[in-house]
Amino acid sequence: MSHPCLTCGACCAHFRVSFHWAETMPTLGGTVPEALTERFDPHRVVMRGTWEPSPRCVALDAEIGVRARCSIHAIKPSVCREVPASWEYGAPSPQCDKARLAHGMPVLTQADWDFPTEPTEPPTEPPAPIAPLAA
Ligand code: SF4
Ligand code: SF4
Repeated sequence: MSHPCLTCGACCAHFRVSFHWAETMPTLGGTVPEALTERFDPHRVVMRGTWEPSPRCVALDAEIGVRARCSIHAIKPSVCREVPASWEYGAPSPQCDKARLAHGMPVLTQADWDFPTEPTEPPTEPPAPIAPLAA
């Protein structure tokens, strides 16, 4: 079982992803490539492709519902870090649920995070006997 986002990508193809333009300015500590954005209003830019009737972020490398990755994961906008997957941190996420339902996928449940733990190997040898204390 892998992280559910790796086989989803729905939120990156559902919402307008807008954020302050300073996030594209390296001189101000911004990391998002400016070329992947367009001006939205005097204070904000949007990720290209997300301000469309059928949004899809230009940075999304995905077949929605099959495989998904953000091609700028390490430097993506702050808003993208703020959308949790439902139940990843013990609570539902309305944005995650809305995006998945819009793409025909069921919402995540707690069971999606119940990763199996590694089976513990039984000991191959009996434990060594404890030496009696010297009199
Ligand atoms: S919609 Fe939810 S599960 Fe899908 S990629 Fe976004 S946060 Fe992850
Ligand atoms: S920048 Fe990455 S995480 Fe943010 S919407 Fe685009 S593909 Fe998704």
